[in-house]
Amino acid sequence: MENNQNTSPLLRDTVIKVDLSAIAENIRNICALVGPSAEVAAVVKANAYGHGILPLAPVIMENGASLLAVATLSEALEIKTAYPDYPVLVMGLTSDAYLPQAARYSVIQTIDTVEQAVLLNEIGEKLGRPVSVHLKIDTGFHRIGFPDDPDSIQKILTLKDLPWLSVEGIFSHLALLDDASNKEQYERFTRVIAYLESNGFHFRYKHIADSIALVDYPEYRMNMVRAGALIYGLKGFHKGFVSVRQALRFETRISHISLVRKGEGVSYDYTWRAGKDTLVGTLPFGYADGYPRNLRDKGTVAIHGKRCPIVGVICMDQCMVDLTNVPDARIGDTAVIYGDGTGNTADIQEISELAGTNKNEIVSRLSMRPPRIYTYEQPAQKAEEFHHGSI
Ligand SMILES: *Cc1c(COP(=O)(O)O)cnc(C)c1O
Repeated sequence: MENNQNTSPLLRDTVIKVDLSAIAENIRNICALVGPSAEVAAVVKANAYGHGILPLAPVIMENGASLLAVATLSEALEIKTAYPDYPVLVMGLTSDAYLPQAARYSVIQTIDTVEQAVLLNEIGEKLGRPVSVHLKIDTGFHRIGFPDDPDSIQKILTLKDLPWLSVEGIFSHLALLDDASNKEQYERFTRVIAYLESNGFHFRYKHIADSIALVDYPEYRMNMVRAGALIYGLKGFHKGFVSVRQALRFETRISHISLVRKGEGVSYDYTWRAGKDTLVGTLPFGYADGYPRNLRDKGTVAIHGKRCPIVGVICMDQCMVDLTNVPDARIGDTAVIYGDGTGNTADIQEISELAGTNKNEIVSRLSMRPPRIYTYEQPAQKAEEFHHGSI
């Protein structure tokens, strides 16, 4: 625990600050929205969308989530090593060679073939305990899943004969094209479930809704929802509403200031040249930290509450900004790269629009290099600050 950042061993001025109280509030608000009829699977893949998985996991689980969902087995094992008792679902497929590891660590694995069901059953028998799985059904997205044709669904019935396989859940994923296509997928999914249930299956968990669907389409919440972006305060919904706030802030400090004379260039290829004598600040972050390189000539940072445009090509580890709006800027002053929109900062929504992508890409591409700093701000209580090493 270290309260004074200047004496903390971060060794870097470019940092990602995560407000854990925002994460806690967001997950509580999501749970309250869906109510007691549905449980919340918290999607924490890609290092919890760049926020850092291990510090967030207990906050998410202690504030109402039932399950942590990741994309890959490696992500699941990272959680299981630190928190063996948290249920973890791998939503992607895992190759046969790695399935023994999944079973050994009691990871809940997604499957979409009878062959893998048989393999996991054998592994379970050797371990002496059943292996838990969720079945993925392809209702049109065509990414993974058992096809929902009669032959394929008929084959799923054979899973009932596998005593070391515990089929805990069944799920699908919406393409979110429009109301009609969502409805079609949902109906295809419920038809599959009805058939399997009428043939003796029981699924503890049935789920199809991600962050957007769980807010905009309450009728598709079933008894579990998969909340990802929403947990981090990234809002994609259009029709419904839930109160969530962005937890992440990306900051750095000015490392150098140059006076660039009229006509002189900045950075590779001199793509930007000073139209007049200009104060240019150097900031020690670049695309290797996860900032989109294509934000050259578009991106801005906030210094002293004023926007400063990035000028010239963004380098791997540094970039330059025009300091004309902040003539009193000094080396060591804070520059906010991603804020929450307050104090004239650019929020993740704005950055994603500028970069021509979505909010999830902007946060999940944040690299491991910037140290994460975690704060937990509670009213009437001193803010606690600690850091989590950057590897
Ligand atoms: C990533 C993912 C989610 C979460 O998506 P958000 O849009 O961030 O809520 C849900 N389900 C599956 C299968 C995913 O891969």
